[in-house]
Amino acid sequence: MSERRIQVLAPRLANQIAAGEVVERPASVIKELVENAIDAGSNRIDIELEAGGSKLIRVRDNGGGIDHDDLGLALSRHATSKIGTLDDLEGVATLGFRGEALAAISAVSRLELFSNTSEEHSDGWRAVAEGREMTPRVSPAPHPRGTTVTVRDLFFNTPARRKFQRTEKTEFGHAEEAFRRLALSHHEIDLTLSHNRKVVHQLSAGSDQLTMEKRIGRLLGRGFLDNALHVDIEASGLHLWGWVGLPTHTRAQTDQQYFFVNGRAIRDRLVAHAVRQAYRDVLFHGRHPVFVLYLELDAGGVDVNVHPTKHEVRFRDARLVHDFLFSSLHRALADVRPNTESVSAE
Ligand code: ADP
Ligand code: MG
Repeated sequence: MSERRIQVLAPRLANQIAAGEVVERPASVIKELVENAIDAGSNRIDIELEAGGSKLIRVRDNGGGIDHDDLGLALSRHATSKIGTLDDLEGVATLGFRGEALAAISAVSRLELFSNTSEEHSDGWRAVAEGREMTPRVSPAPHPRGTTVTVRDLFFNTPARRKFQRTEKTEFGHAEEAFRRLALSHHEIDLTLSHNRKVVHQLSAGSDQLTMEKRIGRLLGRGFLDNALHVDIEASGLHLWGWVGLPTHTRAQTDQQYFFVNGRAIRDRLVAHAVRQAYRDVLFHGRHPVFVLYLELDAGGVDVNVHPTKHEVRFRDARLVHDFLFSSLHRALADVRPNTESVSAE
């Protein structure tokens, strides 16, 4: 070992190593590609999978597309159009900003990027990153305005990661869960998911309560909404809205708990604690509430650069957020709490 000289890793190898953090399975690819499509301002996104996503993942959007001159860069690491300075990062409003996903996915699969910024179908381009240097090759390819990314044979060249892939059914389950989170966080987008050429979900856009409820019903089952309270509370620069399940509609697991911060699905201890406290005296031991909740606050009030997958966030004023969540939900549940307690809680 000691005779080994220090060398800079070839781009593909460096990207394969980086992929370990963000690309765990087909579901992670779907998340990254759909987030890119959302950041591009799309109002329609179609996702196609084959064999749970291990054979094929195709995400097609009608967003702004990528300029011909930027196509090669889009596939390189640390290349992003979303931030340019540290200040931008402080208030980042896009889902992406690390400039890693396409490079990482491209290093561990056969990835093709098609894009077009113009209305002329024939102005489209295709880009791939070739060899260990991941040299971009760009060639003309007709494509409507927007972007399509095709990911074939995920992990074909990283056997260690491939070994950890589960059955088609399990991988599809994770993929569908990723889709659910994206669909619940972006009601303004028409979305379809198909698997092995069958349409599994087809969801229409709409930001009125009725359309949103229809989508939630399709994704989580009608039973949830029939047993949920609608909440919508604003205070101290924080806005919380969504649906919380009645204490009579609980689950043995925490698997139907969706919490979005500024359009991003997150898992957070502080949030979990506030919700648990609010439900404390109305839930049976070992049961968990079901909820779909949206918290909106100024982008500067939350740090999303905590982990590469961005499933975690850090609130600048954690105490304020915690107390706001607790009191909002506690009050919402007051009506279903036995009378004596709701009086003493006031
Ligand atoms: P990030 O999203 O963190 O910027 P990515 O590797 O996911 O990094 O994407 C790199 C860049 O490629 C993005 O910053 C964006 O400019 C461009 N891009 C990727 N996907 C799309 C898309 N679907 N539509 C438009 N531009 C895209
Ligand atoms: Mg991205």
